[in-house]
Amino acid sequence: MGKPLVAITGASSGIGAAVARRFAEAGHPLLLMARRIERLEAVGLPSTLCEQIDVTVRGSVRAAIDRAEEEYGPVDCLVNNAGTMMLGRIETQDPLEWERMFELNVLALMNAMAAVLGPMRDRGSGTIINMSSTSGRTTFPNHAGYTGTKFAVTGITENVREEVAGDGVRVISICPGATSTEIMNHTTSAELRQDYAAWRDEIGGVMDPDAVARAVLFAYQQPPSVCVREIVLAPTRQVR
Ligand code: NDP
Repeated sequence: MGKPLVAITGASSGIGAAVARRFAEAGHPLLLMARRIERLEAVGLPSTLCEQIDVTVRGSVRAAIDRAEEEYGPVDCLVNNAGTMMLGRIETQDPLEWERMFELNVLALMNAMAAVLGPMRDRGSGTIINMSSTSGRTTFPNHAGYTGTKFAVTGITENVREEVAGDGVRVISICPGATSTEIMNHTTSAELRQDYAAWRDEIGGVMDPDAVARAVLFAYQQPPSVCVREIVLAPTRQVR
């Protein structure tokens, strides 16, 4: 029998695209989700359904999964990766930016979990891997809104892990440090983008997204009786 279906949100760039490549190499059929369909298709992987969806639209992930499952069978792993980082200070940042981050990084992630948890519990197996961050464990300057979303991801992941552990479902968080992706383009303040770039240089550069992808695959590939609850990985010279 072939390997089971893996669904990845935010697979059109950065960490999500790297995760998709690693799972394809491991022989899994894939459901890739993001808004930029041409970028999803450009990842160019075999046995892959690319779905152009906005994960903040409730029900969109479940609908995409239904289409993929018709072709490839049940989703065995959901990688909840779509996210954005908009740096700023609470007193000056446009509140729409926090709303956007909470909608995408937290609420859409919860909706995607809800879309797969029931069937996974019924089957007595399945893995949800949520992309948190070192910002889900500690604080950084100008990160209050983003840090809030990632602490939420860490808390939600741990809480749900406890709730579904008895049903054989694994819920895992991956907490990467600074990684070379498009995420920094989302911060609107040019000054904060420059500060971030200076910090990246100070710590001697950032991780390749494939380093995170390997950690995701490692966690997934453990025997079903083993749950790697959390992986924290960061550039060696990143202290916090
Ligand atoms: P990128 O900006 O490169 O990728 C973000 C992905 O999310 C894209 O594929 C984007 O696709 C997708 N996305 C954004 N909004 C939506 C939406 N509304 N609906 C569907 N997909 C969406 O950044 P990263 O690869 O860095 O980010 C991936 C995850 O990793 C995030 O959760 C981020 O917080 C986390 N992370 C990143 C770190 C880093 O240093 N880079 C460190 C720690 C964690 P599209 O625009 O096509 O919709």
